[in-house]
Amino acid sequence: MDKEMSYGSDYKYIPATSIGSGVGRNVLADLYCHTIQIVNICLVGNPETKEFVLVDAGMPGSAAEIISVTEERFGTDCRPKAIILTHGHFDHVGAIIELVEHWQIPVYAHEMELPFLTGEKSYPEPDSTVEGGMVAKMSPLFPNEPINLGNHVNQLPHDGSIPHLPGYKWIHTPGHSPGHVSFFREEDRALIVGDAFVTVKQDSLYKVLTQQQEMNGPPRYLTTDWQTAWKSVKKLEALNPSVAVTGHGLPISGEPLTTGLRKLANEFDRIAIPDYGKYVDGNLH
Ligand SMILES: [Zn+2]
Ligand SMILES: [Zn+2]
Repeated sequence: MDKEMSYGSDYKYIPATSIGSGVGRNVLADLYCHTIQIVNICLVGNPETKEFVLVDAGMPGSAAEIISVTEERFGTDCRPKAIILTHGHFDHVGAIIELVEHWQIPVYAHEMELPFLTGEKSYPEPDSTVEGGMVAKMSPLFPNEPINLGNHVNQLPHDGSIPHLPGYKWIHTPGHSPGHVSFFREEDRALIVGDAFVTVKQDSLYKVLTQQQEMNGPPRYLTTDWQTAWKSVKKLEALNPSVAVTGHGLPISGEPLTTGLRKLANEFDRIAIPDYGKYVDGNLH
């Protein structure tokens, strides 16, 4: 754990927010979700045992907020056992280097996401021409260069288990990014989705700002393989989750989740896939 880490040269603070920013929610006794500007992080684990992990690492510049939220829930000087990433987009790894340095803990991600986390490969440019709203239009601002976590990042075990997160399995849900994963606990059918689907229309500035709940596909401006993204939504729907925390938007549970996810899985082409955009046509079969 001594290799130097770095963000990409296009790394920067992004001035976008929502009314949910700074708000935390107890979704389950051992699942806490907190919104950083426009993205959610999760603290998974029981506050009594103090055994927990952090899922995703927020927006650029949010390390102090993430540390204070963590200490509020688990106690001063408590630290997660690991950071588990759903994927490596800038809004999910924004504070990761400061967090790894502060806590001295390992990071885990799917092996197909590692090139974007070890400085090898940039994500495709965000598509500002995609059908959608103001957030899509401002997406050229978003960093897409890889960060480099060096030997601090490890691949998730092939057997589906997640280090330091007993009871959960990772599920490969590509399409939004190649190594995108979601986390599912069979026992109570809790699902940590990442961006495989979200509960807010993430390309619309107004709907992001107000966090108007609306079951939707992955954020449009960064999704590059829509047919694969559709398959991933069907895979998650088949799990029949009872509660879902998404990377963007409010947590959702019960009937609205079941109905909304079924509708999204059935009508993904109508609801989620944009009518136009540079990553749309190439994926039509
Ligand atoms: Zn993403
Ligand atoms: Zn995201």
